[in-house]
Amino acid sequence: MADCLFCNIIAGSIPSNKVYEDETVFAFRDIAPQAPTHILVIPKVHLDSVDAVTPENSPVVAHIFEVIPQIAKAEGLENGYRVVSNCGADAGQTVRHLHFHILGGKPLALEMA
Ligand code: 5GP
Ligand code: ZN
Repeated sequence: MADCLFCNIIAGSIPSNKVYEDETVFAFRDIAPQAPTHILVIPKVHLDSVDAVTPENSPVVAHIFEVIPQIAKAEGLENGYRVVSNCGADAGQTVRHLHFHILGGKPLALEMA
């Protein structure tokens, strides 16, 4: 999608600090990190949010969840980490391209809401 920030990051027309890429998945460091390690993992196919996941496109989401522990290991997050996906306005989703935050590198606050 031409006007999507994360599609432009995947295409390289907007620079990012890439940590992982394969045929279907891209991962890069969050521009405003909320933890010592804060990485966004996204499908290369444009999906708006978790709400857009279907039986047809869910294999890429499954693949993202295979990639996440590989990234966590490469980042040295052996003490644990959090995976978050904000979906829609009440969750505070600001970029409407499905993304999973990997947060770690310190003990994280427990508040979920
Ligand atoms: P959301 O609030 O939608 O769950 O998460 C969007 C995330 O994208 C935020 O953590 C924000 O800091 C990050 N972000 C927004 N614009 C950019 C950008 O241009 N580059 C990078 N690397 N991260 C961005
Ligand atoms: Zn997009």
